[in-house]
Amino acid sequence: MVYVEVETIATVAVASPSQSSPQAIKSMPGASVVPTQHATAHPYYDGSENATSKALIANALAQRIKSINVDNCEAGGEDAFFVADLGEVYRQHLRWKLNLPRIEPFYAVKCNPDAQVLRLLANLGCGFDCASKKEMETILSMGISPSRIVYAHPCKTASFIRYAAAEGVDHMTFDNAEELYKCQRYFPHARLLLRIATDDSKALCRLSVKYGAPLDSTAGLLQLAKNLGLNVVGVSFHVGSGTYDPNAFVGAVEDARRVFDEAADVGFEMKLLDVGGGYGHNNFEAIAAVLGPAVDQYFPSNVRVIAEPGRYYVASAFTVAAHIIARRTVEDPVTLEDSFMLYLNDGVYGNFSGVMFDHQTPIPRVLTCGDQFLYGKRDADERLVKYSIWGPTCDGLDCISSSSFLPEVVSVGDWLYFTEMGAYSKCSATKFNGFPDDHEVVYVCSEQGAAALLDS
Ligand SMILES: *Cc1c(COP(=O)(O)O)cnc(C)c1O
Repeated sequence: MVYVEVETIATVAVASPSQSSPQAIKSMPGASVVPTQHATAHPYYDGSENATSKALIANALAQRIKSINVDNCEAGGEDAFFVADLGEVYRQHLRWKLNLPRIEPFYAVKCNPDAQVLRLLANLGCGFDCASKKEMETILSMGISPSRIVYAHPCKTASFIRYAAAEGVDHMTFDNAEELYKCQRYFPHARLLLRIATDDSKALCRLSVKYGAPLDSTAGLLQLAKNLGLNVVGVSFHVGSGTYDPNAFVGAVEDARRVFDEAADVGFEMKLLDVGGGYGHNNFEAIAAVLGPAVDQYFPSNVRVIAEPGRYYVASAFTVAAHIIARRTVEDPVTLEDSFMLYLNDGVYGNFSGVMFDHQTPIPRVLTCGDQFLYGKRDADERLVKYSIWGPTCDGLDCISSSSFLPEVVSVGDWLYFTEMGAYSKCSATKFNGFPDDHEVVYVCSEQGAAALLDS
């Protein structure tokens, strides 16, 4: 894997402002301020595209593609690659702080364990949600204190619990009786969070089918924990990944309050509420507008509140470019109409794994067509035709999109790009069929504040 040196980030990065205050960001070229319908809208984040970011990404894509000569590069020299704007991660963090100032983010490492993203979030003061020995090890090896990790897996491997105990990662979640016996055996002094089930019926990826104690079991679990001499310090939940119902958070906060009261009845004084993940780029303000007040309504200020955002931080920061390796025209035997198939060198077994695992519907856009560079351009003046877009493996499942409209002239040797590719993409890629799972990331940084944190 080739990373662009962190030092170079600062040089490609910084377009102008000398400070990274909201005011300065507001005045960055292109960061236009358009009022939105949300009463709680971010003072400078308005959901519109950031022109500085787009320019840096365009430049990185163009340079990289220019450096590849398809006629004489090494085998795989034209592999798909990412461009990541760390400035976007930084903006998401500021957006979090402004909308949910009481709630401390613990980034869910599984979503995208990119080393530069982790470094930036660590330097911004985030904690980390880890679910395995490897994830804990990754964070600890960066010199981050174990107190900034929550081992947020309710059904843990015994040897991983021993690892957490040895390393001092003492915040862990549980949701069933067997887990309590395991904790007693391997880490009796852990600070436990009881993960409760939520109504995740309005989420794309339902998690409560697998995890979370039903509310009629929580009193019994708390009593058992007390009898075993364990230390339950709080409640956690996850409303489901890709949720589209902000009110799910309010319901879960109310349920957590009830469990806090049950805990008091058996003699635990809970001090920690973990409101989980599930925040999206498009619904964040709407969630914050109901979640923040609900937390304040039900929990006094001596209760510490943390969250485990994953996709929120990274989805919009990563763009993938993939090469068109083949194109096929198929005539429908009945209608005699042509349809078109494009084959890319990245697919569902690669960085588009989210199509399988995360209900993603990636939208292809034309990056190059012949010698034209078309990033960010509309192809309106071209005749559009319908394509299906396929990955490189021999499996018929490896379909990125069954119906996408692109110019008819697009063909072998051209490049496509996909935005919003930072979450649940590379991390669940495989090496199936001998195609790589470790695509290069080219980093840019559209925020000077973020570049400064990466330099140190
Ligand atoms: C996956 C996961 C997250 C992150 O979810 P997002 O939807 O990406 O925010 C947080 N907490 C737990 C326990 C998870 O399993």
